[in-house]
Amino acid sequence: MIYGPYWTITRSSKGDYPHHPSTTKIPLSLRLAHRSSAPRMKSNQSSNRYARQVQFSPIGENGQAGIRKSTVTILGCGALGTVVAEILTRAGVGQLRLIDRDIVEWSNLQRQSLFDENNAKEGHSKAEAASIHLSRINSEVQIEPIVLDITSENIGPTLSASDLIIDAADNFLLRFLLNDWSLKHHQPWVHGGCIGATGQVHLFNGTGGPCFRCLVPEPPPAAAVDTCDTAGVIGSATHAIASLQATEAIKWLSGNRECNRTKLLSIDLWNNRIRELNLPPQLRDHCVACGKRQYDFLEGSHALSSESSAVLCGREAVQLQTNECDIDFSQLAERWQSLGRVQQTRFFVRVHLTNEQSLTLFKDGRAVISGTDQIATARSIVNRYLGG
Ligand SMILES: [Zn+2]
Repeated sequence: MIYGPYWTITRSSKGDYPHHPSTTKIPLSLRLAHRSSAPRMKSNQSSNRYARQVQFSPIGENGQAGIRKSTVTILGCGALGTVVAEILTRAGVGQLRLIDRDIVEWSNLQRQSLFDENNAKEGHSKAEAASIHLSRINSEVQIEPIVLDITSENIGPTLSASDLIIDAADNFLLRFLLNDWSLKHHQPWVHGGCIGATGQVHLFNGTGGPCFRCLVPEPPPAAAVDTCDTAGVIGSATHAIASLQATEAIKWLSGNRECNRTKLLSIDLWNNRIRELNLPPQLRDHCVACGKRQYDFLEGSHALSSESSAVLCGREAVQLQTNECDIDFSQLAERWQSLGRVQQTRFFVRVHLTNEQSLTLFKDGRAVISGTDQIATARSIVNRYLGG
């Protein structure tokens, strides 16, 4: 039997929880909204809402106010991002930006907690689907979905004015880019990663290292890296890692920064192993990023460009950047009607060419071709239905 804090804090809470206010309108746009200048009026309901968190003495009223006035950007709305987003939304963060380029798929539902079968059936954008769900949880939080592929060209305007960034990315290159940007602009970020039943967490404070590149100097070759595709992943592990990331975030935002972890935490939930890895300052001496201040992924030889194409991790799909901009979705949808079933939202227009193959065009000019992992095939489909 477990004794201790659990028994001291568990009491009947009947009547303590207010009804949710009715669903409010949230800003749904690709453009960044201005930060709200002041928190909305604090009602009895909202003060009740955070009562247990405020009761926790390291947070208190001051810590809650710090959380309330913060803007957090979550990079990736998958297994880690959705869970961190839910915890921070319930915790009452002021503004939350959710960035993801992908759509919800059936294989996401096993672990990505803000999505349901309807989202997968309709192929909703992850950022938008998550935002709608989160706004029902806490209408006081200003939530902004951003459907975008982050590159070295757009990372600045997208991440600026954030108090904290959550790394919930699904690929190494994006982490290297985030690391460079964070060092250059002194932005703190919480790293998280999870494969199989193993994951790791660390808060990089953006003030000169040691940094992520001290740990992983170069992107490993694709064949050498396990992904959720090759090794699988269990939902309990991603939830655990995301909870640890959210905890680091809450410490930081509530002004308890002396409690943020200084060692990288690595957990193998299946084999019951926990390790802490020390990151000594001497690591900086050999680091290209925090030592020599060369930001290869942001402005150098490895810069992630919007020109690039990619076979998407975990899906039989290819992403290509087209030259389309300022796309008239309605016109395109009409043009595609004769090809197959067409879906249109404010973020994308999609045509189902066959049962397996579809072409989706996003506002930022990205095209995702599902049903193939061949870049050449994808290009030919794009040329056929968008070219000319
Ligand atoms: Zn470094």
